[in-house]
Amino acid sequence: MLINLRRLVQPILDSPNADTRRPVIDGNFESNIPGLYVIGDLGGAPVVKLALAQGARTADHIASKPDATGASGDRFDLVVVGAGAAGLSAALGAQAHGLRVVVIEKNKIANTIEDFPEGKWIYAEPETVPAEGKLWLEGASKEDLLARWRQAVESALLDVRTGEGLAGLKKIKGEFEVTTTKAIYHSTRVVLATGQRGNARELHVPGEDRDTVFHRLYSPKHYAGEDILVVGGGNSAVEAAVALAGQNRVILSYRGPEFTRVFKDNRRKLRAATEAGRIRVIFKSQVKRFDNGMCSLEVEGAGATPVKFDHAFVLIGADPPAEFLRSLGLRLEGDWTGSPMIAMALVVMTLLGVWLLGRKPPVAGYREAGVALTLAAFGSLVYAGARGSRFAWLGISFLVAYTIYGVKQAENFEFWPYRGWGARAFAIFGRPWSFWYTVLYTSVMTVFGIQAAKRWGFDKGDRFQIWRYASLIGFQWIFFFLIPEFLFQWAVKYEWVGHKLATDPTFAGQAWRSYGLIYAWPLFFYTFFGGPSQVWIVWGAFLAFVIIPVLVLFHGKRYCSWICGCGGLAETLGDRWRHLAPKGRTSQRWESMNTVVLWAAVLVTIFMLGRDAVTVFRKPADVGIEYYHLFADTWLVGILPVTLYPFFGGKVWCRYWCPLAKFMQILSGLYTRWGASRFAIQSNDKCIACGECSRNCQVGIDVMQFALKQEELNNANSSCIGCGICVTVCPMDVLTFTAAQPKLVQIV
Ligand SMILES: Cc1cc2nc3c(=O)[nH]c(=O)nc-3n(C[C@H](O)[C@H](O)[C@H](O)COP(=O)(O)OP(=O)(O)OC[C@H]3O[C@@H](n4cnc5c(N)ncnc54)[C@H](O)[C@@H]3O)c2cc1C
Ligand code: SF4
Ligand code: SF4
Repeated sequence: MLINLRRLVQPILDSPNADTRRPVIDGNFESNIPGLYVIGDLGGAPVVKLALAQGARTADHIASKPDATGASGDRFDLVVVGAGAAGLSAALGAQAHGLRVVVIEKNKIANTIEDFPEGKWIYAEPETVPAEGKLWLEGASKEDLLARWRQAVESALLDVRTGEGLAGLKKIKGEFEVTTTKAIYHSTRVVLATGQRGNARELHVPGEDRDTVFHRLYSPKHYAGEDILVVGGGNSAVEAAVALAGQNRVILSYRGPEFTRVFKDNRRKLRAATEAGRIRVIFKSQVKRFDNGMCSLEVEGAGATPVKFDHAFVLIGADPPAEFLRSLGLRLEGDWTGSPMIAMALVVMTLLGVWLLGRKPPVAGYREAGVALTLAAFGSLVYAGARGSRFAWLGISFLVAYTIYGVKQAENFEFWPYRGWGARAFAIFGRPWSFWYTVLYTSVMTVFGIQAAKRWGFDKGDRFQIWRYASLIGFQWIFFFLIPEFLFQWAVKYEWVGHKLATDPTFAGQAWRSYGLIYAWPLFFYTFFGGPSQVWIVWGAFLAFVIIPVLVLFHGKRYCSWICGCGGLAETLGDRWRHLAPKGRTSQRWESMNTVVLWAAVLVTIFMLGRDAVTVFRKPADVGIEYYHLFADTWLVGILPVTLYPFFGGKVWCRYWCPLAKFMQILSGLYTRWGASRFAIQSNDKCIACGECSRNCQVGIDVMQFALKQEELNNANSSCIGCGICVTVCPMDVLTFTAAQPKLVQIV
């Protein structure tokens, strides 16, 4: 049963960035193995300029260590694996600091760039970031750039051993043993800069190992007057087919019914080449085998189809290097480690300890036993977490969130094991826990909000992000802390709201309703019932049905990323885990759960409004309000999402359960369809498929796929909340916010 449970849960646990997981590294690019550094593409630098900078900084950091130099004989101070932008920059920097360095390269120097088509222009983006390190970088053709780099390597007499791939890595008694396909090296430190391209994917069909079948195209001009077969449906395959079509007869075989991931410009070139009869595209076709000069294709509807070829190029992408990295002992972000059963048992034991602690009247020894059990179980969880168990951290995260929300319930309605004493125990300095909860919430948002503003705004010189974080923190302080906790009471006491309202008990006695100033129904679920003053009913209706729809028209769902306190906590505390947001179609299908919550909110509101007038509404109203409060207002908005922040990013509630987000999604989708929406993201043609935008989208949108196709991203085809992080992180300045283009699109 447990195995089945794990099988059910595993796809959910694995969904965040399953394809693009990176090694866990610290601020100096050091991995979980001390002395092993991970940089470049593999360490999160998506373009050459940033890879060079990481290399230079890593060299400086390593050189600052007391034992940085001193190796001699057959030992090195540093082995650099991968002679790409990052590896070369690190090696040249370290050598300049006096370290004894060797570079191991599987193929050729700067092999990734070497593999680009002839004459490809290498952009030196981002323009606002100054170049760092010893390698030259300006916008240039790949040939110019490589010539300069080769010269830099030669004049520095850097020891680069090409055609030698890393096979294994061990750390023995503080020293690394680096095994390559040709030799074994010993060194004090290792820099891993092998890029994200991984190993070329294969079809695994008979004959694929023939010397006429390749998995890369180096130089199209070497082929002329030939029958060429290109297999694949991505940009590499299309670019290769187009490049070869000038002087050959090209067949492009793709298993799909159309090209969905291809740049707009590549599609245009492919269309021109097919119309001119220089390329024949065979969709829905699969290679079955390669024989001598003949390939057997299985074509849907036509069966086995022989295709003549002199050379074939299988360009179907690359397998991400995750398994290889794990085999080296590297921990990858998002990997689930440790035992879920032990973590669960320790959570239950901690709660049992708390239960003993709270027994009344105190039976001799109960409290002491409770303290001992709580400390032992919770301490064991922390210990397991420190030893690398991610399940233990999940348990800790749950205990914290469960306690915070469990004792926030009304007195004697606290959750087990806090029932009957938790609310009182957590009421400090005469103030209820609900007050301290607000203080905690606001403080956490402020501290982490400033950090996030620094990360995305100040460090990147992005004013949009600075304003966004200022807005989130400002709304939290004014509308979700100062007004409900202080200003409302003062407004009543000093009659700032007028004598009539200040003496009206339905207004003066319900300070909590001031959350409804900004929180709109159905997020602020209690707007219209529970005996509100007329002021709140009028304002609540105006906010939900006038202000929100107008805001959505101009700004899509930016309420979630600029105003809302729930979204605010996700964007501040949850920001550091944004890359862990579940990705892919399954996770997007889960988003329909918020339709259920929206319907529940609508129905319970109707029952509650009609409760006194219509007798049959009473029972469903009472049951509905109780369950809505328990599930939506406690578990779904509080305990579960906050528990899951460090594991699935901050947007769990907003994305899967928030009824207001769904309401805005419906509105924004309709506006887009009607051509009225002023909210969308457009792309130019400079995307290099680095994936940074998709990786950092906290609502799991595959932004890169829109960018590659230069397709508009809006609320009719995505649940974008307009946070702009994808725009900020894109190193090529591909993405911009604009008004949606009027056209008929389907609402999700
Ligand atoms: C289509 C495309 C266009 C791009 N255009 C641009 C652009 O215009 N401007 C820009 O700035 N960036 C561009 N990039 C991104 C740029 O190529 C990368 O950011 C950069 O190459 C990353 O450098 P790196 O050193 O981390 O990795 P890489 O350059 O990939 O170098 C890794 C090196 O490690 C070697 N290696 C791999 N495995 C092993 C092993 N097991 N043992 C030994 N060696 C190994 C590889 O052979 C390779 O030489 C583009 C990328 C793509 C895919
Ligand atoms: S697509 Fe971009 S703007 Fe929209 S939510 Fe994702 S990261 Fe934010
Ligand atoms: S649009 Fe996305 S994938 Fe393309 S370059 Fe920008 S961040 Fe990278």
